[in-house]
Amino acid sequence: MIVAASTLAPADADDFKYTDEQFADIQMLRYKVEGFESLSLRQKTLIYYLSEAALQGRDILFDQNGRYNLRIRRLLEAVYTDYKGDRQSDFYKALTVYLKRVWFSNGIHHHYGNEKLDPGFRPDDLRAAACQLDPARLHLAEGQSVDEFCDELFPVIFDPAVMPMKVNQTDGDDLVLTSAVHFYGDGVTQADAEAFYTAQKDLSDPHPVMAGLNSRLVKQDGQLVEKVWHSGGLYGAAIDRIIADLEKAKPFADTPAQAAVIDKLVEYYRNGDLHTFDAYNILWLADTAGTVDFTNGFIETYDDPLGMKATWEAIVNFKDHEATARTEKLSANAQWFEDHSPVDARFKKEECKGISAKVITAAMLGGALYPSTAIGINLPNSDWIRKEHGSKSVTIGNLTGAYNKAAHGNGMDQEFVVDDATRELISLYGDVCDELHTDLHECLGHGSGKLLPGTDPDTLRAYGSTIEEARADLFGLYYIADPKLVELGLTPNNVAYKSQYYSYMLNGLMTQLVRIKPGLNIEEAHMRNRALIARWAYEHGKDKKVVELVKRDGKTYVQINDYPALRRLFGELLAEVQRIKSEGDFEAARRLVEDYGVKVDPQLHAEILARYEKLHLSPYKGFINPVYTAVKDSQGRITDVRVSYDEPYDQQMLRYSRDYNTLPDIND
Ligand code: ZN
Repeated sequence: MIVAASTLAPADADDFKYTDEQFADIQMLRYKVEGFESLSLRQKTLIYYLSEAALQGRDILFDQNGRYNLRIRRLLEAVYTDYKGDRQSDFYKALTVYLKRVWFSNGIHHHYGNEKLDPGFRPDDLRAAACQLDPARLHLAEGQSVDEFCDELFPVIFDPAVMPMKVNQTDGDDLVLTSAVHFYGDGVTQADAEAFYTAQKDLSDPHPVMAGLNSRLVKQDGQLVEKVWHSGGLYGAAIDRIIADLEKAKPFADTPAQAAVIDKLVEYYRNGDLHTFDAYNILWLADTAGTVDFTNGFIETYDDPLGMKATWEAIVNFKDHEATARTEKLSANAQWFEDHSPVDARFKKEECKGISAKVITAAMLGGALYPSTAIGINLPNSDWIRKEHGSKSVTIGNLTGAYNKAAHGNGMDQEFVVDDATRELISLYGDVCDELHTDLHECLGHGSGKLLPGTDPDTLRAYGSTIEEARADLFGLYYIADPKLVELGLTPNNVAYKSQYYSYMLNGLMTQLVRIKPGLNIEEAHMRNRALIARWAYEHGKDKKVVELVKRDGKTYVQINDYPALRRLFGELLAEVQRIKSEGDFEAARRLVEDYGVKVDPQLHAEILARYEKLHLSPYKGFINPVYTAVKDSQGRITDVRVSYDEPYDQQMLRYSRDYNTLPDIND
């Protein structure tokens, strides 16, 4: 289940600088590694070496994203640092933006949209700049002239028809031939790849490996063969550096179980055997006692058009004990919440168990998790391992927090919140209540209630996920205003919940529409659910003016007049949504979603888009990593690890390209 960041956010509680530079459609942010200083020296040392391992695979990802990416990145970096012409020129400025985008995307295609980036400058200018450079900086092939080098690379950079998409998902196309990702060799077709992997499938195996996960499929002398990514194989030079850092980390492991995890991962990086990878995942799942945890490897398959081959990624993290205690407190009281909910007793669970999701603090991001990243992770991906051994589900607290804090001061609340008193409420309690609502949604909401005997869980069909998200959100909204939360010490007082009520109604009635293009309906389940709840409560409280849409100077604002009445409305809707779910009432689900969750008022929509556009906000965000510096004694032993946050984006990228320069230009 995915939790998307809301469009409204609370105030900075500290003076940490969460926002950094903006370019193209991107806003760079920084995250704070809260709690790092209070870790033990052993744990800091562990994080230091795991962080090094997390950076060693960067070149792998560039090559996976396209076979020319490393050479193009190195060419652009050479021009960027050694340019002899005017650095105020339009060419140099455009090159700077393009290089920043290539770094951000780990290649020449947009990280989210997959389309090839437009360089924004002319090929002749780049050629002239390349000719002025020391040829040693250009990574020319044996005997290649600078012009020949440019002739080879420029179509890839400038011609919109060459490698137009990183991943092509258009039905009917040959998805392998038309995708730029470097998971398949020259001439390998979609039919080739599908036949190759279908032939390997053994449907009677209860424990199948994730076939194709860690290799490139190529044609050699007309035969299909896998080039496996392991020490001694493809990407072996980078993998050896990862192994070296993992081995340095191992003596500082948090638990003996974690040392075994590291050993197994190293074994897998050496042999490339997917059975070893499964064994590693099982050990990793069992290792829950320690504080520090990490992922390092070929994990997610979103970027393979056939969904088999994994991009390289890494994250180093440690448990946020305070935030995890919060989710554990909710789970421990799950039965109380179930018993006191406003739903009909027939639809309640007699025995209710909450889910404890661990909250973690990210310490380092690498590969496909950098700079654009996830705020929650659920692994491993192997179906049979999930069934037999479970999965680890985490939310990354300091990244969510950084998104929220960066959003403060972006002008959204100034523009859209009705008055100063409400802004004050949001700035005081918005942060804590937002997190708490997410916890209630995840730990209790989804797990609450039961189906009546004989109800088919799939009856609600296309409306099922919107109804399910509404159920979880309403559970959270109803309980965030409950005195029980003050009693448990989870909310500071009995007015804090109002910040969440206001933010939720504003988002559902208005601000979430900034993500919808004019003329379109709301499609996504989480967004439909928010619109459904907000509009239903608005309509049903209309005669008593519980919530109003007021006009001031031609602008529309949400105004909440009666918070306790709004809570009663949320309770009523929760009871009805639970009834729909428990009885499988398809017609009622359809009406609720279609009447309140889909359609957009075109006039209000246009007004919101116009107000939003004036704020000049970037749609995409990513993070600059912190820098860890090891302090060593005369024998080379680490005596302290310091963390700093002031490295500029371009300096970080240039340093990574220099210090984690692990692969040759061409990896065939
Ligand atoms: Zn959910």
